[in-house]
Amino acid sequence: MKQKINVIGAGLAGSEAAYQLAKRDYEVHLYEMRPKVMSKAHHTSHFAELVCSNSLRSNLLTQAVGVLKEEMRMMDSFIVKMAETYQVPAGGALAVDRDAFSFAITKTLTSHPNITVIHEEVKKIPNEPTIIATGPLSGEALVKDLGRYFDDDHLWFYDAAAPIIEADSINMAICYRKSRYDKGTADYINCPMNKEEYDRFYEALIQAECTEIKDFELKVFEACMPAEEMARRGKETLLYGPLKPVGLEQEGKLRPHAVVQLRQDDIRGSMYNMVGFQTHLKHLEQKRVFRLIPGLENAEFLRYGVMHRNTFVKSPGVLDPRFRIKQESTPLYLAGQITGVEGYVESSLSGLVAALNMDRELADKQALIFPLETMTGALSDYVAHANKDNFQPMHINFGLVPALGYKHKKKERKALVSERALQAMKLFWEAQNEQ
Ligand SMILES: Cc1cc2nc3c(=O)[nH]c(=O)nc-3n(C[C@H](O)[C@H](O)[C@H](O)COP(=O)(O)OP(=O)(O)OC[C@H]3O[C@@H](n4cnc5c(N)ncnc54)[C@H](O)[C@@H]3O)c2cc1C
Repeated sequence: MKQKINVIGAGLAGSEAAYQLAKRDYEVHLYEMRPKVMSKAHHTSHFAELVCSNSLRSNLLTQAVGVLKEEMRMMDSFIVKMAETYQVPAGGALAVDRDAFSFAITKTLTSHPNITVIHEEVKKIPNEPTIIATGPLSGEALVKDLGRYFDDDHLWFYDAAAPIIEADSINMAICYRKSRYDKGTADYINCPMNKEEYDRFYEALIQAECTEIKDFELKVFEACMPAEEMARRGKETLLYGPLKPVGLEQEGKLRPHAVVQLRQDDIRGSMYNMVGFQTHLKHLEQKRVFRLIPGLENAEFLRYGVMHRNTFVKSPGVLDPRFRIKQESTPLYLAGQITGVEGYVESSLSGLVAALNMDRELADKQALIFPLETMTGALSDYVAHANKDNFQPMHINFGLVPALGYKHKKKERKALVSERALQAMKLFWEAQNEQ
């Protein structure tokens, strides 16, 4: 008889984990609370729904997330494979048609003979081999039950999602297509502003009405900071952030004072998201303020930006680098954003590492502890061993890996770190598969 494993949550991490375990011939019970219980950010009942941007970020090997994806390819990541199947043009980034992507993942998992899908909110941790991958918007009862491992160390805060605009409503007599420094094949739509237009927009943005957030709940998360919050930090801040005009000049024209970029959101090119415009302005305020952007005067908003809770636990000391709860005798793993990794790719990676190690544990094989030089190893190590007192969700970055330890030109560092990581992963992965 096949060994049963529960995977709770069919998001990015849970979908990756369920696929990997089913592939290794376990009987997977995949629990997903949607559509019976919807979170405030998800809009569909599909698995691996991308709640905000449609981008899995850079594919370049000079970027940590590009290297991480390459490592995941070596390990046959299901999420990366599906993202590549449903990608849309995005320059050096891996962006997807979100509906096609999550629809295909749902179909693959629901039709897999080793997977039973149960649409139910799990409120108590089962006393069976289990991976909990319930994400930043986990059902509260289960989070409470997790408290037995985490004392009163649960955390939660809010981050934000950007609006999506109907392509046909963008005024292309004002806007133009170009990617920054003409890199890649991306077709960003750019909305240029002169100083007067920027000043008017800026004043409206900082004075616009926001949805109510209690002070103690708002810990602004730098990687996903609302545009209005960034604007309040100073009039120039946006000009060095999402509205940076450098590299977006049009031939024969002066550089605009500011540029709002719109990125393609679906394969057909019918939807565009406002890059860097996560926001918690009230919906009608978004319409009023964002329509002040030249070219968006008649913009139709297909989805407004929103603010959401983001739950994660203080993992260091409680989880080991396999994402396993150390003190539990029954194999119990966490995966995804709830562990303190941050981002679609990082969440998927943790689902992959947890599933591979669940398999190892049940098969009585040696644990897979990835070398620290790899992005996979560095992120897993961060979750297990970071400073618990100021533990914060973390994107993969080159700062997490050990120094090179030999002299090199500063500008060559990223390429060298990347090369070392991929070499280490290749050797490690080949050695594991030979065992
Ligand atoms: C509003 C918002 C915007 C974000 N924007 C981005 C972004 O643009 N780019 C990026 O890289 N990252 C973003 N993130 C961060 C994060 O990477 C994503 O949330 C990612 O989806 C996390 O993957 P996950 O698998 O951990 O969780 P999810 O993908 O959220 O999956 C968790 C699943 O578990 C289900 N579930 C929850 N509780 C239970 C339960 N008790 N029983 C059964 N099922 C349950 C949920 O319905 C959900 O399907 C954002 C997060 C939020 C909240």
